[in-house]
Amino acid sequence: MIRPIVKYGEHVLHLAAEPITTVTGEIGDLVRDMVETMYAAPGVGLAAPQVGVPLRVFVVDVSAGRSKDGLMTFINPEFVEREGLQLEEEGCLSVPGFAATVGRPARAVVKGLDLEGRERIVEGRGLLARAFQHEMDHLEGRVFVDRLHGIQRDLIVRRIRKLSRSGKW
Ligand SMILES: [Zn+2]
Repeated sequence: MIRPIVKYGEHVLHLAAEPITTVTGEIGDLVRDMVETMYAAPGVGLAAPQVGVPLRVFVVDVSAGRSKDGLMTFINPEFVEREGLQLEEEGCLSVPGFAATVGRPARAVVKGLDLEGRERIVEGRGLLARAFQHEMDHLEGRVFVDRLHGIQRDLIVRRIRKLSRSGKW
């Protein structure tokens, strides 16, 4: 089932998410819905707070469904390693219509559980490292806009406020 994606400004998106204590059937349903919602959007990653659920889980597929091994689920993820720096333009399904250049690690290794409760450690470089950092940020209540500074951030925040005042957000 495709779930509605919450947008920048909604409380749940700006809160640190809680760890998942048991991978129940409900978590399985949540993850399946997140995958469906991500592909439908379309996007290359989605974190549970983006569908209004403040739990520490995200899904990612930088191949956007083209590679059969592309889809990954991380429950209670943690960084194992992060290094380097890449600067690329980035957007977010919760901030539609906006993009900005964001500094991210060039390489990131993430460890977490999959839906079967098995530990999984994955090394990401380039776009995957960027996606890992972007989704991990969501679990801390941080959106890419929060990584921007000064006028760049102010401009986006101001335009979003204007859109929400006129009911277009
Ligand atoms: Zn996002």
